[in-house]
Amino acid sequence: MHSFVYESLPVRVVFGSGTADGVAEEVERLGCRRAVLVTTPGRAAMADRVAASLGDRLAGRLACARMHTPVEVTGRALVEVAASGADCTVAVGGGSAIGLSKAIALETGLPQIVLPTTYAGSEMTPIVGQTRDGVKTTQKAASVQPRVVIYDVDLTVGLPVPLSVVSGLNAVAHGVEALYARDANPLVSIAAEDGVRALAAGLPEIARRPSDREARAGALYGAWLCGLCLGSVGMALHHKLCHVLGGTFDLPHAETHAVVLPHAFAWNAPAVPDAAKRLARALAVDDPVRGLWELCRRLGAPASLEAIGMPREGIARAVELAARDPYWNPRPVNAEGIRDLLARAWAGEPPS
Ligand code: NAD
Repeated sequence: MHSFVYESLPVRVVFGSGTADGVAEEVERLGCRRAVLVTTPGRAAMADRVAASLGDRLAGRLACARMHTPVEVTGRALVEVAASGADCTVAVGGGSAIGLSKAIALETGLPQIVLPTTYAGSEMTPIVGQTRDGVKTTQKAASVQPRVVIYDVDLTVGLPVPLSVVSGLNAVAHGVEALYARDANPLVSIAAEDGVRALAAGLPEIARRPSDREARAGALYGAWLCGLCLGSVGMALHHKLCHVLGGTFDLPHAETHAVVLPHAFAWNAPAVPDAAKRLARALAVDDPVRGLWELCRRLGAPASLEAIGMPREGIARAVELAARDPYWNPRPVNAEGIRDLLARAWAGEPPS
């Protein structure tokens, strides 16, 4: 018998097609009057659509969100939010837009409605990462958990294939690590397995036919479940390595996850037979280590840390940082094992 604790996230989830049109009602439902719209630069078409849905509930627009949520961007945004008189935020975009919305919530307590347009999963977590002087730190706070998440498949149809692939693998990584989390519980394990299954089925279809709405809906459903996993249970070696690599070498977030995942799972697999069985089922393969690697290759994801900008001489530094304040991990971590893992990931060799 396994004992467990299950705690649910306080979030309302609306999923479908055309759901962005209901954003004004969601603002009202929260008891709010006017929202400031948060996006990354260049997402004007998407923002226009949501702005139109908000109608006279739109208090202003912030199109300045950046990856890794730099505090100076948040500082400028806070001034504009105060001037706008908004009593809530509406974020449209990936983890970067949602990150700025969360950073605003952390300072102001404003409730958030978010419309995710990638598969990264930030919308389902009470976690915010912020960067100050080039150092990224993450914290957990109930105030940053978005109150409403509107998944609208229509907003994801234009996500370019390379981004869809790495973002989807970022979501798969949440599901994989949830399967062997220290605080795993039966409901999250079901969500993790079904989330990975949906993404493993949807992503190859998206790579073939990017505007296939069925495939997009499947991947978005998987992203919701894997995001829920990320928000519900603790992550392990894989997320630690990606945090270290992204922060130290300024590597792109989702691409780093896509490269590291098969290697990190290969390290943990011998220690987590039940999780390996579930993952094999989700991927419909016999060997889940190989299955993950082959899924990444079939999708055309970057195969090596070298290809995404990490210098070879950075491996030693990454080993040192990964060993410092390590996350809990099902298989104990040692410097030699991590060096070998990172050397393979750097060179794009298959996991062993
Ligand atoms: P992103 O939000 O940085 O988006 C990447 C690029 O894609 C941006 O240029 C964006 O404008 C564009 N884009 C987004 N949606 C699009 C669409 N539908 N069509 C076309 N272009 C689109 O990328 P991301 O991977 O979603 O987020 C990464 C950030 O989120 C990192 O800072 C990461 O640390 C953070 N994150 C946080 C959590 C959390 O729980 N706190 C979870 C996951 C990721």
